[in-house]
Amino acid sequence: MNSLHLYNSLTNRLEEFTPIDSGNIRMYACGPTVYSSPHIGNARPLVVFDVLFRLLKRLYGNVTYVRNLTDVDDKINKRAHERNISIKELTDEVIEEFHKNTDKLNLLRPTYEPRATFHIKEMLDIINLLVQSGFAYIAEGHVLFRVKKLENYGQLSKRSLEDMIPGSRVEVAPYKEDPLDFVLWKPSNENEPSWDSPFGKGRPGWHIECSAMSSKYLGKQFDIHAGGQDLIFPHHENEIAQNFGAFGCLMANYWIHNGLLLVNNQKMSKSLGNIISLDEILRKYDGEIIRYVLLSTHYQKTLNWTDQIVNQAKLALDRLYGALESATEISGDAGNFEGKIGFESKVTEALCNNLNTSLALQELSKIADKIYKSNDQVEKNLLCSALKKEAEILGLLARKNWFQKEAKLSEEEISKLLNERAQAKAGKNFQKADEIRNYLLQNKIKIEDTKDGPVWKVISE
Ligand SMILES: [Zn+2]
Repeated sequence: MNSLHLYNSLTNRLEEFTPIDSGNIRMYACGPTVYSSPHIGNARPLVVFDVLFRLLKRLYGNVTYVRNLTDVDDKINKRAHERNISIKELTDEVIEEFHKNTDKLNLLRPTYEPRATFHIKEMLDIINLLVQSGFAYIAEGHVLFRVKKLENYGQLSKRSLEDMIPGSRVEVAPYKEDPLDFVLWKPSNENEPSWDSPFGKGRPGWHIECSAMSSKYLGKQFDIHAGGQDLIFPHHENEIAQNFGAFGCLMANYWIHNGLLLVNNQKMSKSLGNIISLDEILRKYDGEIIRYVLLSTHYQKTLNWTDQIVNQAKLALDRLYGALESATEISGDAGNFEGKIGFESKVTEALCNNLNTSLALQELSKIADKIYKSNDQVEKNLLCSALKKEAEILGLLARKNWFQKEAKLSEEEISKLLNERAQAKAGKNFQKADEIRNYLLQNKIKIEDTKDGPVWKVISE
């Protein structure tokens, strides 16, 4: 078996992965805050950690993967208020859309996908433990974590306490003993969601939910904690502090963080107007193309998103699928093909070396080269079986009819898209309206605007 090496942000070293229990690998990744469609930068960790999940399953068999849904947050309250719908309606809608899009990206569903609001009791249990042990204190309806009581606070982000003190222009809440202390529980205003607690009606701070949900489904100490590098401080640092204070142990042994994503060398921001939402990009391109792009750069490096790399990904996939077309039979049980054709799993090897997905993609392409060069049908079939089996860890080559762009939309989906198009037109968002029209056209649905509203028909080639 290949041994897996991962770069551990906690020790800043590449380390051989040694699980706590090789019969059940336990992994946690921080999931989305469900107030609107995630952008492609948020999609990167989803895809990278899906590959890690698939690889761990291939290597060890049994893996418990937890990715939470943050459904209590001020951004959610604000958005629900703007749209004049309830918080539950908003979060249910966003979660449903999120799942549709993760399916398009060919993400495996995690073993558990817990929602924060379903785990308030577990959060309060940990907060109580922290208060009892003196790691937390109550002040004016707030419960705060006493950072200076924890000796090695800052071990993940490698920041000193002086570095972390908010600048003099940041106003420190008067009820805090120390500016570094962070909120575990806070009181809610009338129109904010709230739950009863021993500290008064209120709602949790952000960090506590991950300690509560990970310890419930994975135990107090587990193997891998993953997330974007922007979460290292303060979110992950505070998760470590909470678990240490409540349970007296290190939360996870390996901390894996992915790098940033830029669009045309710029950070995505509202002011630049260059935010690409996942929902929007999946209307334009097949999910497998987007997945390929997100894996084309090593996860620790900055990924620079351009139209060019999206086009390259499409060409690369066309070529891989083209190679598969030459098989007359693909063996699901790839069985002994490795021995028969002298084929070694270079793809798994690349992934075992700190998830080197860019090298793994090159290795897939080399298998395709051999398929194109081979004149022997038996060998072609074996190579195609190998290609498919190796691509599966990357979550690629899963489509049956790649070259056949058939209408796959249900009447329900079509009418939903027509509604969205009407809304976009009413809001003068003609670009979005055109995109929806083109998307339907790609799926062989033609819209005609009549005086009674739009009608659609299926067109032939
Ligand atoms: Zn988290």
